Amino acid sequence: MKKEGEIEFIKDGKRVDGRRFDELRNIKIEVGVLKRADGSCYFELGDNKVLAAVYGPREMHPRHAQDAKMAVVKFRYNMAPFSVDDRKRPGPDRRSVEISKVSREALDPVILREYYPKAAIEVYVEILQSDAGTRTAGINAASVALADAGVPMRDLVSSVAVGKVGGEIVLDLNAVEDNYGEADMPIAMIARRNTITALQMDGNLTKDEFEKGLKLAMKACQQIYELQRAALIGRYNKDESAKSKDRGT
Ligand code: UDP
Repeated sequence: MKKEGEIEFIKDGKRVDGRRFDELRNIKIEVGVLKRADGSCYFELGDNKVLAAVYGPREMHPRHAQDAKMAVVKFRYNMAPFSVDDRKRPGPDRRSVEISKVSREALDPVILREYYPKAAIEVYVEILQSDAGTRTAGINAASVALADAGVPMRDLVSSVAVGKVGGEIVLDLNAVEDNYGEADMPIAMIARRNTITALQMDGNLTKDEFEKGLKLAMKACQQIYELQRAALIGRYNKDESAKSKDRGT
């Protein structure tokens, strides 16, 4: 296994995959990809491939877990056994429980839970292929799937990681950068208000580096937000044009 010092993270001002420091990986978003779920989204972030499905709002079971004042959001992040280099042991583990909790907390502030007392809103995120940043891709996908399900929301949540590799602050770390770099900081935010709804950090950053990273993340979340919005609009425009074709208009 390579150690941090053995990797040339930055060469001629570019990163290991040729990106600039402030460059996102390619993003692809498809809305409404699953028939059974109330809302769904397929999200690609570079080599990450993620599927989100939403059910509800519907009656919460077991009843004793209901909240009389608002809906309960359940979030399950799961990595497929074939999503990583070594087979991932199926089932929940410490990491997936943590990511599920953080992702739920990242989305909670935008969901109008008070509209649905005693209800449950279930969000399932399946990581089909991973290359670091899966929790951010999962939050982005879940946010779009919630909107696709018609869950009333104040806004969308957008998410990206920033970090430090080869002494530089960079955006959207890939697996090599995440595993062998100096710091990794996933952030979720309501892009239009620059309100942070989740922030985690692995490694160390100085105050200046933190602020620089935050700025990069804010800009990138704006870009992601626009793509999420465009994907949602595209889906419903498409439905409308299909309907008008049926009507012969
Ligand atoms: N990873 C892996 N096996 C695991 C967990 C993670 O190979 O059991 C890889 C995977 O590519 C993941 C990356 O390590 O995307 C970084 O994981 P981290 O815990 O930082 O979460 P993420 O960046 O995916 O949100």
